[in-house]
Amino acid sequence: MKTYVSTLMADVKAKNPAEPEFHQAVQEVAESLALVMERHPEYRNAKILERIIEPERVIMFRVPWQDDQGNFQVNRGFRIEMNSAIGPYKGGLRFHPSVNLGILKFLAFEQVFKNSLTTLPMGGGKGGSDFDPKGKSDHEVMRFCQSFMSELFRHIGPNTDVPAGDIGVGGREIGFLFGMYKKLRNEFTGVLTGKGLNWGGSLIRPEATGYGAVYFAAEMLKTRNEELKGKTCLVSGSGNVAQYTVEKLIEMGARPVTLSDSGGYIYDEAGITKEKLAFVMDLKNVRRGRIKDYADKYKGVVYNALDAKLEHNPLWSHKAHCAFPSATQNEINGKDAANLVKNGIYVVSEGANMPTTIDGVNLFLESKILYGPGKAANAGGVSTSGLEMSQNSMRLGWSREEVDTRLHNIMKNIHKACFDTAEKYGTPGNYVNGANIAGFLKIADAMMDQGLV
Ligand code: NAP
Repeated sequence: MKTYVSTLMADVKAKNPAEPEFHQAVQEVAESLALVMERHPEYRNAKILERIIEPERVIMFRVPWQDDQGNFQVNRGFRIEMNSAIGPYKGGLRFHPSVNLGILKFLAFEQVFKNSLTTLPMGGGKGGSDFDPKGKSDHEVMRFCQSFMSELFRHIGPNTDVPAGDIGVGGREIGFLFGMYKKLRNEFTGVLTGKGLNWGGSLIRPEATGYGAVYFAAEMLKTRNEELKGKTCLVSGSGNVAQYTVEKLIEMGARPVTLSDSGGYIYDEAGITKEKLAFVMDLKNVRRGRIKDYADKYKGVVYNALDAKLEHNPLWSHKAHCAFPSATQNEINGKDAANLVKNGIYVVSEGANMPTTIDGVNLFLESKILYGPGKAANAGGVSTSGLEMSQNSMRLGWSREEVDTRLHNIMKNIHKACFDTAEKYGTPGNYVNGANIAGFLKIADAMMDQGLV
């Protein structure tokens, strides 16, 4: 089976050059699926994985807009419609200067498996732009979003492709995008998720990814008869996912001690409290400031500026029990993973997508820690987007408790599916294999049923 993976990867690299993140995401899945191909030659003969790797459609477009000084600006827009075997394409939009085709393909590929795990009928997609919302005025962000949607609108729809937020795309951006879609189509539909509460959004959607990652960690701990209460936790990022991870950790009696942004990280030994979190939410969501301000405001807090020369991130070198990477891809490399294990971390629940490099993942697996990969641990966000779609279709809104209970149950089911599947395929406790295989089987069977399309 080693030759199955190496032949497949040689082909993927030759066909998709200069897309290292995409290669990484495919390699991790292919290694898990080698176990499935041995038992099910029919999937191999039907080239199911090769077909999943090839996006159903890639849309790339020009996004011209005008800044506040009247200068013309040009960005690149993308939508990767990866797989629609089990439902309309679904996945976020990312606005960040690092965005390129390979990064969005890796995210869309991951999304296919993640959405399958949610138990809801959603295919996989992802999109975005190399536009950087940082430092832009609200008017500039609005003009950019309107230009972006003036092309994207013809490719999406509530039964075709339903985008949501991701890095750099929060409530403000979804509002501008939705407004433009509604104007162009002259229809009010659930075409985007993460909408405002009084125009079709769902309660708990902003909280869902962070809450879900914490619920997933709690489920993993339960398998060892432990709970989150009293655990010290490292959290990276300070955006949507990180904020609600911290909120739920506090609620469950844990002690989160770190947060970061692209400038550096803070270490608050006393623990981030509800009041301090409210400061972070205002700082990041309203004032759009830097995490360094946290250390200036609170006594006893250490701020470490990012040092690009270091080959590791010292955020991951603090003593703790649990880690919740919630910023971006490859933020934990092999050295960081070794530091985490050395310092006693035995729970890693990934709020971010693919935050750990392959050597880091292998180290976690060898160390037999409780390691929840992003496509399982952060699936709470897209699950609640699925619940938002259901509410939009019914033209009804559920209460906070109703949505939170459904989210919690979905995370428990995802955990169970990963746990049971890992055991069934002879690798108990390996949530990477569990997530990849359980996610794959549902899509593979749907593709077999639907013929060669
Ligand atoms: P966000 O609100 O934009 O926050 C992103 C955070 O990560 C910010 O603190 C940002 O710092 C930091 N960050 C981004 N790129 C970075 C880089 N290259 N180096 C260092 N720090 C960086 O985004 P988010 O929605 O929380 O998303 C965070 C992660 O969760 C992403 O991997 C995303 O794909 C994943 N995710 C999100 C959702 C969701 O529902 N939002 C669902 C599933 C998975 P700066 O502000 O300084 O850039």
